Amino acid sequence: MNLILLGPPGAGKGTQARKLQDERGLIQLSTGDMLRAAVKSGSEIGRKAKAVMDAGKLVSDDIMIAMIEERISQPDCDKGFILDGFPRTEAQAQALDAMLGRKGLKLDHVIEMAVDEKALTERIVGRYTCAKCGAGYHDSFQKPKVAGICDVCGGKEFTRRADDNAETVRTRLEAYRKQTQPILPYYRAKGVLKSVDGMAEIDEVARQIGAVLS
Ligand code: ADP
Ligand code: ADP
Ligand code: ZN
Repeated sequence: MNLILLGPPGAGKGTQARKLQDERGLIQLSTGDMLRAAVKSGSEIGRKAKAVMDAGKLVSDDIMIAMIEERISQPDCDKGFILDGFPRTEAQAQALDAMLGRKGLKLDHVIEMAVDEKALTERIVGRYTCAKCGAGYHDSFQKPKVAGICDVCGGKEFTRRADDNAETVRTRLEAYRKQTQPILPYYRAKGVLKSVDGMAEIDEVARQIGAVLS
């Protein structure tokens, strides 16, 4: 099964993609995570992407399309994947279709995570992840069971993203409205678009996604 989770920054795409990966064995393909790894490694793509990401703007379609094509071609994706953060523009959506067509693959569901924009800044500025295993947390909405210790791996170090600040969030939301929202009608017309209530609690959102998939 191949899925897309679509929604603005902070909608809960990463949280739900990780759950689907753990519970259903699908592979989470987060273009944001791939880009952050490229920045950390100091590769050419990382050097190009860093300033764009820090500003909250979108990295060029050429780079993103090549990055996802390379990743989807790896054998572990045969068991199905969840795209988290891709596509973000109409050009990316069209390139994805062409790419899947060439590989004989199809999209089963595109799941829109509908959220109230007003809630997103709080979600994003409170977000942090385990430095060791990448598990996601939130200062108020998703605290570790024991303060300061990762539920999943017992790690004690956590990181926050450089772009998770109130100022960058404004630019990122504008990019979502202008460049990403226009792809919703594209998927609606194909009959693959479903919507879940991204404002519900994490487990309820997961339940609604489960209902779409079954
Ligand atoms: P995205 O990948 O869409 O940017 P995340 O999954 O990283 O979003 O979620 C953003 C932040 O909000 C994280 O800190 C996460 O713990 C928290 N979060 C995710 N889903 C919910 C939810 N349904 N209710 C409250 N907080 C949530
Ligand atoms: P969030 O889910 O909080 O919006 P991501 O981790 O998905 O954040 O993305 C972080 C940043 O990486 C984006 O603001 C953008 O600069 C870049 N990025 C990620 N995916 C894409 C993409 N598909 N196209 C263009 N830029 C992207
Ligand atoms: Zn951990």
